[in-house]
Amino acid sequence: MAVPKNKKGRARTHARRSANSVLTPAARSVCPQCGEPKLPHYVCANCGYYDGREIIAVE
Ligand SMILES: [Zn+2]
Repeated sequence: MAVPKNKKGRARTHARRSANSVLTPAARSVCPQCGEPKLPHYVCANCGYYDGREIIAVE
């Protein structure tokens, strides 16, 4: 098993962890009812429709 030859500094450790913790942007899809961007598999917050039916009443 390979063993590290030198201790890595705090800055290097934090830089690696920082690079690996970059948040991925939320997935987007477009509502077929109103065309607004929405989360996939979620009821549209703009018009309240999902799968062609009104699920929640939106004023
Ligand atoms: Zn919609």
